Order: sequence, then C-alpha cells, then structure tokens
Amino acid sequence: MQEKSIFQMILDKEIESEIIYEDDQIFSIKDINPAAKVHLLIIPKKRINTINEVKNEDKDLIGSMVLVAKELAKKYEIDQSGYRLVWNTNSDGGQTVFHIHLHLLGGEKLREF
Ligand code: 5GP
Repeated sequence: MQEKSIFQMILDKEIESEIIYEDDQIFSIKDINPAAKVHLLIIPKKRINTINEVKNEDKDLIGSMVLVAKELAKKYEIDQSGYRLVWNTNSDGGQTVFHIHLHLLGGEKLREF
C-alpha cells in the first residue's frame, strides 16, 4: 500500500487546510504557494497518481472536476475575466504531488505560453 498523499492528509484533517468545497467525490483547497491571485486545487477523493492512470471508469469524475472548477471560478468572480485550468503530469510537467489535482488559476493576467 502506498503512503498517503498530502491531499489525503488534508482530507483526513491530519494537515491543516481550509476545505473551500466538498462533495462525495471531490474537494477543493487554496494552493499553499499561489502562482496567481486566485489559485485553487480541485482534487478527487479517489487516489489516482497521475493523469496517465486515469481510466475509462473515471470519465464522470474528471468531468465533475471540471464542473466544480467552473463553479469555483464563478464563486471567486473570475469566470468573466478569465482563468486557466492545468493538470501537471510527471517531472517535465512539474507535478510534485502524485494524487491528481486540477489547478484553477486566475484573478490577474496570466503569462502567455
Ligand atoms: P503540482 O506541482 O503537483 O502540480 O501541484 C501541487 C500543488 O500543491 C503545488 O502548487 C503546491 O503549492 C500545493 N501544495 C503542496 N502541499 C500543500 C499543502 O500542504 N497545502 C496546500 N494547500 N497546498 C499544497
């Protein structure tokens, strides 16, 4: 059995972090080291290490994560100004926590790439 991810520890209240959204499958927190004025993480309760491990059976879950991101963008009033959704994967993608999460970034003009 692999060790708990930092996000699982947050969900289990072993590490302090305000949970700003939660349902039966998904939760969301503010990123501890924000890369933009608004930087939220949308995280499935199910442990999936990287996007490479997403299966057909996870289609609804991944879709629900995007819908949660959309609602949070509205709640944080960045839906009209604009925002970015990012999944970092493995080393070249800059992934540091191996429990998939969707970054929601906005609240300012983001660097173009
Ligand atoms: P990744 O680099 O894997 O795409 O993103 C992981 C994100 O989790 C990073 O942006 C990092 O700042 C954030 N993070 C890591 N540890 C914690 C923590 O304990 N609490 C919160 N709120 N965010 C964390």
